Amino acid sequence: MNKTALVTGASRGIGLAIARVLTREGWQVWAASRSAEAQAAALAAEGIRAVSCDVSDPESVDALFDRIGGVDLLVNNAGVASYGLLTDLTEADWRAIFSVNIDGMFRCCRAAIGYMVHEKAGCIINLTSIWGLRGASCEAAYSATKAAVIGLTKSLAKELGPSGIRANCVAPGVIDTDMLAPLTADDRAALADDTPLCRLGQPEDVAELVAFLASDRASFITGQVIGVDGGFAV
Ligand code: NAP
Repeated sequence: MNKTALVTGASRGIGLAIARVLTREGWQVWAASRSAEAQAAALAAEGIRAVSCDVSDPESVDALFDRIGGVDLLVNNAGVASYGLLTDLTEADWRAIFSVNIDGMFRCCRAAIGYMVHEKAGCIINLTSIWGLRGASCEAAYSATKAAVIGLTKSLAKELGPSGIRANCVAPGVIDTDMLAPLTADDRAALADDTPLCRLGQPEDVAELVAFLASDRASFITGQVIGVDGGFAV
């Protein structure tokens, strides 16, 4: 296969696992993050090209696409979380999480679509969350961004389907990454207990679903929100 993928937020966690699984499947992978330079050598040894980008900065996204050109697959994975009561959120807090989780996704989609339309083919996979479906106490801003991701993705599926481009959401449950750092051991145990499969997810669990959705095996799947959550959202 000689197809190119861009995975945002691929310096660690779910994004890095996605970059690795896609590389295994034969994709030429660009792994974008703010800390990419520090990882470039290590990732190059795995056949992954690290590239710097802050998706919250429009100029940084423009520079990214100027460098890498068109991609056949865009995985919008870069994301940040915030925890706390809504009443404690400042305007800046609210804007900060939206600027990464949804504004960044909009920018990357807008930049990627031109090439895909030209090719009459392409695939976009956006990371939402079970909290975007269900809402989460003390994560209102995060949940709102992840609900917005679903609306964006379903709209893109309709807008781009006639051009041969698919757009889907992946909705992870509780996945064991740095994003869980604020949780206590008791919090983690309680979340595992609430999961029918009785464990937290691993980044690779999500990556395998992304690789499937990116493949021709998923060629009639678009506009969907597919959970990878051990049954948590059931
Ligand atoms: P993580 O371990 O905290 O990794 C986040 C990634 O996003 C890092 O590579 C980080 O790299 C990158 N990133 C953050 N801000 C960025 C920015 N402004 N521009 C570019 N890259 C940025 O998180 P994760 O758990 O792997 O989460 C990945 C995605 O899955 C997120 O969208 C998250 O909301 C979603 N998700 C996670 C879970 C979970 O339980 N972990 C559940 C549902 C959904 P740098 O810091 O180097 O930029």
